Amino acid sequence: MKFAPMNHSMKSIRIHLRILLTLLVAVWLVLACKKNGWTEEERALIAGQPDVMRVLTVENEGDLQVLRTPCTNLSAAMLADPLYEQLAAKMIATVTSPEQNGVGIAGPQVGLSRRIVAVQRFDKEGEPFEVYPNIRITALRGEPELGREGCLSVPGRRGEVLRYRDIDIQYTLPASGKDTTERIEGFTAVIFQHETDHLDGVLYTDKLAPEHPEDTASDSE
Ligand SMILES: [Zn+2]
Repeated sequence: MKFAPMNHSMKSIRIHLRILLTLLVAVWLVLACKKNGWTEEERALIAGQPDVMRVLTVENEGDLQVLRTPCTNLSAAMLADPLYEQLAAKMIATVTSPEQNGVGIAGPQVGLSRRIVAVQRFDKEGEPFEVYPNIRITALRGEPELGREGCLSVPGRRGEVLRYRDIDIQYTLPASGKDTTERIEGFTAVIFQHETDHLDGVLYTDKLAPEHPEDTASDSE
């Protein structure tokens, strides 16, 4: 016995199904890319600014809203996009610019509600600035100590804050997309705590030690 040859209408249904399936996959791919990548607004913000980006401050009502917004992670697609390298370079150019002269900066301070910080590594030779995506503090050790802090987003003010000097950070390595953990000690640990707070919408002024009211100063971080 032989199979009956496929008639014309069955063939046409199969072709239509194949076209429909291809279209569905194409639509899904477009949506998936949009969902996991940089938004058009973020692209415009990063690419559209000079190397030294505008730093948001608490003095502007619109800026304050962004500074108070908790941040979301960067996806593997975002880290693989050339825009990530552009953002990392611009954040470093901004924090090291003569007008800012800071030791750390966080995503919200340049208008991005993403978990990314640039920190000066005083614990490394040459004290380089490095960028950390998807950063979290995963351990705090010892007793917190008081130290004076300022913030690029809170111009002209400084205050005493309790911070730990021995912590663990976890972040994503952009090249591999894998998470890694690192132990940080000393003043660099203080910077990491200040910058990571920004990613949760927290400012150092929320944590001022009551017996050490803030004062005004010209330098900031
Ligand atoms: Zn700050």
